[in-house]
Amino acid sequence: MKRPTSRTKSDGSALSEAGPENEKRALTHFGCPDCNGVLSVVDAGPKGYPVFRCRVGHAYAGDSVIRAKEDRLEGLLWGLVETLEELAELHRILGDRAGEAGADPIALAYAERAAQADAHAKVVRELISHDRPVVAGHPED
Ligand SMILES: [Zn+2]
Repeated sequence: MKRPTSRTKSDGSALSEAGPENEKRALTHFGCPDCNGVLSVVDAGPKGYPVFRCRVGHAYAGDSVIRAKEDRLEGLLWGLVETLEELAELHRILGDRAGEAGADPIALAYAERAAQADAHAKVVRELISHDRPVVAGHPED
């Protein structure tokens, strides 16, 4: 989990982490991309851009919250691919050992699970290759 650090607004200027004490915030149902805390929103940014802040101070202006969510999604998907591919490899290793020991039903079960994990990893890789986040600035930029 990252410590709150200085973020930038859509216009490149610095964004206050905590925000003014008297700032009017509305809670959202969105989780902070950094800590998963609840985000609140204020229209304090330039040109009325919404600014999202969590309780510990992570802050996102304009569409930076979307970019952060897209980054998190990509990381989670690659983590899924990594886990599935490792799972497949581990099943192949243990299946080979079981086969060498003459435990064919166990070897078969490991081989089937390895194939399933490989197939799932392939599906997720395909999903990642077709996932296209929107690359756009604010219409007033
Ligand atoms: Zn946070």
